[in-house]
Amino acid sequence: TTILWNDRLVKEEEIHLSVEDRGYQFGDGIYEVIKIYSSLMFTVTEHIDRFYESADKIKLVIPYTKDVLHKMLYDLIEDNQIVDGHVYFQITRGSSPRAHAFPTTATEPVFIAYTVAGERPFEHFEQGVKAKFVEDIRWLRCDIKSLNLLGNVLAKETAQQAGCFEAVQHRGDIVTEGSSSNLYGIKDGVLYTHPTTNLILNGITRRVIMSLCVEIGLPVKEESFTTDQAVAMDEFFMSSTSAEVTPIIQIDDYKIGKGTPGEWTRKLQAAFEARIQQLVTF
Ligand code: PLP
Repeated sequence: TTILWNDRLVKEEEIHLSVEDRGYQFGDGIYEVIKIYSSLMFTVTEHIDRFYESADKIKLVIPYTKDVLHKMLYDLIEDNQIVDGHVYFQITRGSSPRAHAFPTTATEPVFIAYTVAGERPFEHFEQGVKAKFVEDIRWLRCDIKSLNLLGNVLAKETAQQAGCFEAVQHRGDIVTEGSSSNLYGIKDGVLYTHPTTNLILNGITRRVIMSLCVEIGLPVKEESFTTDQAVAMDEFFMSSTSAEVTPIIQIDDYKIGKGTPGEWTRKLQAAFEARIQQLVTF
């Protein structure tokens, strides 16, 4: 197993991380996860672009060009011979004597990337999952893919303690997003999802789904909906790089529709699968 440490491919034992790394002490950094299908990265350009956008939003300058980063990730995947799985990467503002404000002297950001081999969660795709309403207590810049994930961690933990796979977070009445996913409801043949404001992450899978909706003729309203409206939806699902299109068949004690994955959700899953096939053929 090799890991990218800054611009070098090394063994894990060779890596030295500082106790004063600002990622470790403040969560002062950003990250991405890219899915690998048949050794190829899915929507790699979009993920790399968002990485630079997140960096920009926290005034962190990534010391590589996008092309160099792409090449580094490609080499990492090849070196680890990953067929199906994902690559995780993050960058922090680096190590400096602990103080909240940015370091004044030139501090090198610290970049780490590693691969994880793994199967796609087919059982979830087939059966769907249960979810739990959890109040969204996170900060007001959820558009940044920040390493500060404590709100998300607590939401997921609350859901899992209740035997649910994902949290349906809401600010007051308004459903925002999952703990690590975007959320969608379908009612009377229209798909509803929270607009891409500061309150949610603009998911790359969400963008793919928006284009798949056009493809399959499902009208979209990027409008927020309430928790009451959520449980009255005909269909409900979540999306993320790893969850792809995962049906949500129950929220708290409320069954969604018939309590099984809906027809539009199935069409979106099939269309998503076709996008993956486009990537892996050629
Ligand atoms: N929202 C949050 C809070 C997330 O952490 C994630 C992904 O991990 C998503 C949405 C989905 O984003 P993407 O489709 O880019 O994986």
